Amino acid sequence: MKLRKRPRLSVNNERCELFGTCQWEAPGLFELERNGRLRYRSRLTEEDWEPAVAAARSCPMQAIQIKGISDE
Ligand code: SF4
Repeated sequence: MKLRKRPRLSVNNERCELFGTCQWEAPGLFELERNGRLRYRSRLTEEDWEPAVAAARSCPMQAIQIKGISDE
């Protein structure tokens, strides 16, 4: 996989059920707060993409989208 310009991550709040699997996979990108909200960093660096993809794959609700990464 290759990074394109400005890779970004987003979470569909309509789908997210706050299971927290993403935090386990990518603690540097996701954080479940005590108030029950999910915080995440949307701008990805090259070091982030592997854990970001792992988090997206592990999300039981398929709520995580990553844009800017290609399979080329
Ligand atoms: S794993 Fe998916 S459903 Fe669970 S908190 Fe993360 S984004 Fe939400």
